[in-house]
Amino acid sequence: MLEWLIVGGGVHGTHLSHVLTAQCGVPRHRLRVLDPWPEPLARWHACTQNTGMAYLRSSVVHHLALDPFSLKHFAERNWTEGQPFAHPYKRPSSALFAAHCREVAHAHQLEGLRLEGRACGLRHGAGTAGYVVETPRGPLYARRVLLAIGASEQPHWPAWAARLRESPAPIHHIFDPLFDRQQLPLQGHTLIVGGGITAAQVAMALYRDGAEEITLLRRHAARVHPLDSDPGWMGPKHQTAFQAMPDWDARRAVVNSARHRGAVPPRLHRRLTRIAQRERLTIRQGELARVCASGKGPLVGTFSDGAGAVVADRIVLATGFARHRPGGSWLTRAIHALGLSCASCGYPIVDASLQWHPGLFVTGPLAELAIGPVARNIVGARQAALQIAAAA
Ligand SMILES: Cc1cc2nc3c(=O)[nH]c(=O)nc-3n(C[C@H](O)[C@H](O)[C@H](O)COP(=O)(O)OP(=O)(O)OC[C@H]3O[C@@H](n4cnc5c(N)ncnc54)[C@H](O)[C@@H]3O)c2cc1C
Repeated sequence: MLEWLIVGGGVHGTHLSHVLTAQCGVPRHRLRVLDPWPEPLARWHACTQNTGMAYLRSSVVHHLALDPFSLKHFAERNWTEGQPFAHPYKRPSSALFAAHCREVAHAHQLEGLRLEGRACGLRHGAGTAGYVVETPRGPLYARRVLLAIGASEQPHWPAWAARLRESPAPIHHIFDPLFDRQQLPLQGHTLIVGGGITAAQVAMALYRDGAEEITLLRRHAARVHPLDSDPGWMGPKHQTAFQAMPDWDARRAVVNSARHRGAVPPRLHRRLTRIAQRERLTIRQGELARVCASGKGPLVGTFSDGAGAVVADRIVLATGFARHRPGGSWLTRAIHALGLSCASCGYPIVDASLQWHPGLFVTGPLAELAIGPVARNIVGARQAALQIAAAA
């Protein structure tokens, strides 16, 4: 039986596997990371490459390694490919961050901890302590389980887009696991739907790639914020009061209002606005009510306010991730079988060590009601690691 099974090997699961083995003394052969992809952080790399983001939103001290200055020292020693960091917050370039992740994984042999596969069930072990995690290739037994499944497998498809997706219409989601921006044709008209940083980054990337005509359609005026939430949420300034709130539904309301959904950082907003004053890129404000498609041919969208129509050769959704609890039906079954507590939004109610049930821990979105609005971010992984390590 394993001591720890981490389900999900993205930023969160990989960082936790490093902390538990290198810092908490869990023997390597007693810990495994179960993930469907052959490499650590596969979804991170795919999503960030598809957006074309050149620099992270977070600072140099947020990364996979234990030492907060590891990425800074790595850049000083090794980096020769362009500007390693951007202002403000000394944000690493995506290439630098990816190289550092590979370096940390290689130096600490984190790949060797991985098992390729997918959890499809979770239950108590019969007559033994611990858990059984079901996978299509058979059960895995572990004394403790950490759910680090992220939200990257649930891109948000608005209802009209979900209907269209059933046909062969050329509609894509930037975070769909099968999507590759490099395969997108550049000729004709590309309609990007979304109002936040991802939509802005994708518009910039397609413009740079030479796309013939791009329209960025957003529902609201630009919401300009440097970060996804106030920096006070990374520490005690906001977290102390949040974590003392006894009402979990009130915590959900705080998280929802504190996260700047659909926000664009000031520099990106300025650059996008400048480019949109030239040809090839238009920004429109409005909401699509209906989109008609004829096979793989052009799509005709009509606006809910009746403001004319838009004809496009393809639609790319940059509408983020669905808000519901990640994990889907297998986790819902486990919640019922194990009697796990959830707030009315469906998210876990956990203790200060992010324990949902004895020996069952969570991180990422599943820890949102305990950590707050930064739970999904890299800093959220680092905080979760501190809290889980204290109980490990
Ligand atoms: C484009 C983009 C840019 C971002 N930039 C930043 C940034 O600059 N700074 C920052 O702090 N945050 C950023 N974030 C937010 C956050 O850090 C990332 O989303 C990060 O990838 C989250 O890591 P994760 O491990 O929680 O989730 P994921 O990356 O989604 O990893 C979860 C893993 O679990 C796997 N999994 C899911 N279900 C199962 C199952 N049943 N069994 C086994 N495995 C399973 C998934 O396939 C995946 O490999 C960004 C997010 C996106 C989308």
